[in-house]
Amino acid sequence: MKTYYKDKAVVLKTYRLGETDRIVVMATELHGKVRAVAKGIRKVTSRFTSRLEPLSHVSLMCWQGKDLDVVTQVETIDNFRICREDFSRMVKAMSMLEVVDHFQQERMADPGVYKMLIGALGALTKADAPLIMPAFFLKLLALEGYSPKVDCCIRCSAKELLVGFDFESAGLLCKRCLEVESSSDNVNGYGPRRKTTPLSSGAVQLVSAILGTGLGWALNCATGTLADEVAYLATRAVEHHLGRPVRSLSFVKELVI
Ligand SMILES: [Zn+2]
Repeated sequence: MKTYYKDKAVVLKTYRLGETDRIVVMATELHGKVRAVAKGIRKVTSRFTSRLEPLSHVSLMCWQGKDLDVVTQVETIDNFRICREDFSRMVKAMSMLEVVDHFQQERMADPGVYKMLIGALGALTKADAPLIMPAFFLKLLALEGYSPKVDCCIRCSAKELLVGFDFESAGLLCKRCLEVESSSDNVNGYGPRRKTTPLSSGAVQLVSAILGTGLGWALNCATGTLADEVAYLATRAVEHHLGRPVRSLSFVKELVI
């Protein structure tokens, strides 16, 4: 007997399956990451065509298969048109989808990630604030159990003069430990990138606020070089877990981080 289920989802990516079908990868509210076949989606007349594009927020019915589910009905909740029509917002939105695709487990309910993704895409629709994507990366790391340590130095536990960040240990460094770590800093996992970075006290405050209870304050007040510092840190922190650069950001890196 076939099992059907109803859920809400954000489409993360799609790829071809045969002549007319596509596999749609989605972050759902109740079933974690789901891979489902959308039959006939590549036909011009398909009712699914415009509804199951990456970034679409949809309500759907699926038949649960052994490996791949099958989409049977789709209704659009929001297609985030403003994000699609603005290059800067689109890059950030696609980067968030890419990172969620990496972290979310298939068929493992993860409503926190879904809720946070919808919240971030909604915020990006209202305003292209520079810290929406970086804050999303940091919050996602925390939600998945990889929260950076920001209350003291990750090496010696000092609480004063926190002036750097170690990407491998995912935590702040005091002045003395930053000097020690950066002296041996040359190559890490996926290329010749430094494993530490200096950080201003303003950036430390913003990262602490994002990971604590000051997200709204951080999103409102961060601009310019301070926002760039936090964006660099958050992107590198998430890339450490990806084991590679965020591909969606690769062609605009000089603009974003
Ligand atoms: Zn230290």
